[in-house]
Amino acid sequence: MKLLYEGKAKQVYATDVADEYIIHNKDDATAGNGEKHSEFAGKGVLNNTISCIIFNMLEEAGIKTHLIEKLNETDVRVKKLQIFELEVIIRNITAGSFCKRLGAKEGMVLAEPTFETSYKNDDFGDPLINDDHAVALGLATREELAFIKEKTLLINKLLKEFFLTMNLKLVDFKIEFGKTADGEILLADEISPDSCRLWDVETNQKYDKDVFRQDIGDLVETYKAVLARMESK
Ligand code: ADP
Ligand code: UDP
Repeated sequence: MKLLYEGKAKQVYATDVADEYIIHNKDDATAGNGEKHSEFAGKGVLNNTISCIIFNMLEEAGIKTHLIEKLNETDVRVKKLQIFELEVIIRNITAGSFCKRLGAKEGMVLAEPTFETSYKNDDFGDPLINDDHAVALGLATREELAFIKEKTLLINKLLKEFFLTMNLKLVDFKIEFGKTADGEILLADEISPDSCRLWDVETNQKYDKDVFRQDIGDLVETYKAVLARMESK
C-alpha cells in the first residue's frame, strides 16, 4: 500500500480501489499542536475500536460517514474524501481553549451547545475562524457550512445520549467532514477520547486525552476504561 500522508496520530494509505483509503491508527499521542509527544503501546487499537463503535452507532442513527469497514484492530477502510480544512467543534461544558481564550472557569454548563470552527492549519495553530473567514478563504460555501452545522448539532445530540448511557458527560468534541467526488458531505476522520472530552457524571473524573495533556493519569488505562463502559452497556 502506498502511504499518502502521515499525520500526528494516523497514516493514510491509497488502496487498489481509486475512491477508497485505508487509515491506520498509530500509538502516538500529541498535544499542544505536536509540542508534546509520546507513544503508548495499544493506543492505536483503542482509538480504532472506540471510533468504529461510535461511527457505527451514528450510521445506525442516519448520519452518513466515511466508514466502509473495520479491517483489523488498528485499520479502517474508508471512502476517500476531500477533507474540509476545518476543525468542527461543539462545546457543551467549558474546558480547554474556550477557558484560556475567554477567561471562563472550567466546568460551566453552556446555555446551549456552542458551535465553533477552526482553520485546520498546524502552521498557524488551528486558529478559530468564523463563516465569513471560511468562505473568504474558499474552505467551504455558506450552504456547506450550514449543512455541517446542522449535522454537527445532531451528532452532538446523539453522542451526548450515547455517552450518558455509560455515565459519561460529553464536554466537547472535534469532528471533520469531507466531500466525495460527487459532492456528498460525509463525517470523516475519527471520534475517540483523543477528540472528545468525557467526564464521569458523578465525579467529573477525566476520561480523555486531557489525562495526557495535563499529566493526570494513564492514557491507555483511561481509554481502556472508556471502551469497557461502551462494551458493558
Ligand atoms: P493530523 O493531520 O491532524 O496530524 P491525523 O494523524 O489524525 O491528523 O491524520 C489523519 C488525516 O487523515 C487527517 O488529516 C484527516 O483530515 C485525514 N482524513 C480522515 N478521514 C479521511 C478520509 N475519509 N479521506 C481523506 N482524508 C481523511
Ligand atoms: N480537539 C481535537 N484536535 C485538535 C483540537 C481540539 O481533537 O486539534 C478536540 C479536543 O480534544 C476537545 C475539543 O476538540 O475535545 C476542543 O478542544 P479545545 O479547542 O479546547 O483545544 P485544546 O485546548 O484541547 O487544544
